[in-house]
Amino acid sequence: MEPKKVVIIGAGISGLAACKFILSKGLIPIVLEARGAIGGVWNETLKSTVLQTPKEMFRFSDFSWPKSYIRLNFRVLSIEYEGFSNEEIEGWSHWGGSGDAFTEHSKWRINVVDSRPNVPLQEVVADFVVLCIGRFSDVPNIPIFPPNEGPEAFKAGKVLLSLEYSAMDSDTATKLIKDKQVTVVGFHKSAVDLAMECANTNGPDKPCTLLYRTKHWNPPDTRPWGIPFSFLYMNRFSELLIHKPGEGFLLYLLATLLSPIKVKLAKYGMVPEQSFLQDISSCIFAGLPDKFYDKVDEGSIILKKSPSFTFCEEGVIIEGESKPVRSDLVILATEYRGDLKLRDIFASSTFRDYTMFGDLAVPMYRHCFHPRIPQVAVIGFSESNSNLYTSEIRCRWLAEFVDGTFRLPSIKEMEKDMANWEKCLKLYSGPSYKRGCIAILHKCYNDQLCKDMGWNPRRKKGFFADLFLPYGPLDYASP
Ligand SMILES: Cc1cc2nc3c(=O)[nH]c(=O)nc-3n(C[C@H](O)[C@H](O)[C@H](O)COP(=O)(O)OP(=O)(O)OC[C@H]3O[C@@H](n4cnc5c(N)ncnc54)[C@H](O)[C@@H]3O)c2cc1C
Repeated sequence: MEPKKVVIIGAGISGLAACKFILSKGLIPIVLEARGAIGGVWNETLKSTVLQTPKEMFRFSDFSWPKSYIRLNFRVLSIEYEGFSNEEIEGWSHWGGSGDAFTEHSKWRINVVDSRPNVPLQEVVADFVVLCIGRFSDVPNIPIFPPNEGPEAFKAGKVLLSLEYSAMDSDTATKLIKDKQVTVVGFHKSAVDLAMECANTNGPDKPCTLLYRTKHWNPPDTRPWGIPFSFLYMNRFSELLIHKPGEGFLLYLLATLLSPIKVKLAKYGMVPEQSFLQDISSCIFAGLPDKFYDKVDEGSIILKKSPSFTFCEEGVIIEGESKPVRSDLVILATEYRGDLKLRDIFASSTFRDYTMFGDLAVPMYRHCFHPRIPQVAVIGFSESNSNLYTSEIRCRWLAEFVDGTFRLPSIKEMEKDMANWEKCLKLYSGPSYKRGCIAILHKCYNDQLCKDMGWNPRRKKGFFADLFLPYGPLDYASP
């Protein structure tokens, strides 16, 4: 029998992890990567962007990175399914018809172009596709403006996307912002790092204005009272406390432990309205660059709340204000539309509709499989506060599935499990539940994967260690 072909799209951390575990099962993966290098978002970061995840949490369990099998500059335009009809798929009681990874009767045709000019490409056909195309790259979320009040109205300067700025080498980027009045829009990681770069380059003479819509618990210190956050939300004890709604003991504990952070944020009027638990449950948690609030104190960064804004000739106008924020450069760091990237990779409109979220956070079983899209897994879409760790355990689980260690349950059971997750995400993440973040439920998620693979989900030695020590990648290094 011909060996099965597993095509992995994307060579960021998720694609590399998928490659590693598919290889470990004796299958031959083909990794198609649009860029000229591996690493995904970590390829093109700001000079100032450093990991927010603690170093010991952002690693593969054995440090090995696959080097071959990767085809760089292969941009996948779409993937086309050949096999069962939409009607047959609708009638299935099991994923793929049987709950197994492969079927003899269907394949995926991958439509690829070379990112470099004049290089012809052969067609790629796959028995199984792993989509590792990333959620926080490539497709920016650009705010919609009324006619004539968008970037076209800004005649005095230039509008740039944070991903365009990140793609520049650091000298060009520094030259671009030097001696300029820069306005940065957003309050997630790219935005705060950008504001810091502008402040370091220009100082208080040309302060950088940071426009934010919602305050977040972006902590200036990740060890309040010297206690690492991981002891609060990455151990089993923290999970015991959150399975009920309302102001439970965990919130009381967090509020007490976070008081040094709260005091600091209060000084700048930056204490969020939503709870810390809600932000951390939604992965809306940008580690601030070192000495960020010192730059606010010295006047190099101006924080400005802006429910919405439009452009005018001299810069931007904040809703409710008449004077514009004069700018030479406006950088939009307003997040990404990974949901559109995922949807648009499917050639079939039926599959596109399946991946539309609607009211759902993540329409996927174990945050990987859509019950009615056969022979496709999605890795790296539902996030956590340590994505390499999450992608690694997911890929390990996926490889065991592809290898036949277990079968998927019926579609009915998959949908029931998805609905349970949905309920939990809504409970803790509030309006941000669509981010599908599993941060505070990571151990409970890993427990499910371990049980599927036939592993003992209790990974620590001893009752107290299992209850109180943080869980991380090394706990899952081997079965
Ligand atoms: C500024 C910033 C800071 C962050 N900080 C952290 C952090 O501290 N900790 C953390 O856990 N996470 C962090 N993240 C989240 C980050 O997205 C993940 O850590 C992780 O890198 C995601 O890896 P990935 O492989 O899933 O996706 P990506 O890194 O986005 O990789 C996707 C890859 O797929 C390729 N691709 C996409 N479409 C196609 C196509 N059609 N054809 C071929 N190839 C394609 C892309 O070129 C890319 O190389 C941060 C993200 C950003 C933007």
